[in-house]
Amino acid sequence: MNDNAKPVPPSSLEHSFRPTFSENSEITEASLESSRASAEAVEDPPEPLDGPVDMKAIEEAVRTILRAVGEDPDREGLRETPARVARMYAELFKGLRSDPRRHLQKVFTERYDEVVLVKDISFESTCEHHLMPFMGKAHIAYLPGGKVVGLSKLARVVEDISRRPQVQERMTESIADLLVEELQVRGVAVVVEAVHTCMTVRGVRKPGSICVTSAMRGAFRNNPSTRAEVMTLIFGNHQ
Ligand SMILES: [Zn+2]
Repeated sequence: MNDNAKPVPPSSLEHSFRPTFSENSEITEASLESSRASAEAVEDPPEPLDGPVDMKAIEEAVRTILRAVGEDPDREGLRETPARVARMYAELFKGLRSDPRRHLQKVFTERYDEVVLVKDISFESTCEHHLMPFMGKAHIAYLPGGKVVGLSKLARVVEDISRRPQVQERMTESIADLLVEELQVRGVAVVVEAVHTCMTVRGVRKPGSICVTSAMRGAFRNNPSTRAEVMTLIFGNHQ
C-alpha cells in the first residue's frame, strides 16, 4: 500500500474489512466522480514493452544493495544471489511485456444475460512502493451484452496485470476498464482482496490485515441493487 495514503483507522488495520453498500443509498455518477477525484490519481497501465529484461543491470544493482547494507556479495552464500534475484524479477515483472487484451479477443455469442462471476482468482503481485509481494484473490463479474468470454481468460488477464510493479487500486481498475473496452458488457465488477507484505513484515506490521478494493462499471456502478447482488454473490450474506 501507499505510504502517502491517508492514515487508516486502527480498527480496519487489525481486522479484515468488507466494503458495504446500502441498497437505499442513491449512488450517483457525480458522487462517484467526486469521491474518485479526492482519492489518489490512478495512473493508466503502461503499454507492453519490447526487448528482454536487462539481467546484468539487476545483478549489479543487487551487488550494490548487498555492499550497501554491509554484506560481502562475493562470499559463498551470496555469490549466486544477484543472478537469482535477476531471474526472479524477470518472472515477477513479465506482465510488463505482455498485453492482457490478447486474452479477450475470442468471444462467443450467447443469449445468457445474467451475472457471470469468477470468484477466488488467486494472484501474486509486487507493490511498486516497496517492491514487496502482495497476494490474494480477485473476483470478476460482468453482465454480458450478447457475448461471453472463456472463464479461464479472466484468470489470464489477472495474471498479466498482476505481474508488474503494481498498486492494488490500479490493478483493480485496470482489470475493470479492460473488460469494458474489450467485451460488449452492460456492467463489470472487480473486487480484489490482498495481504500486503509491506504492511505485515515491515512498517506497521499488522499480520492478518486484508486490503479490499473494488471497481464498478456500468450497471454495477449505476444500480445499487445490481451492485448489492454481486457483492452478495462474492461475499455471501454476511458482509
Ligand atoms: Zn508497499
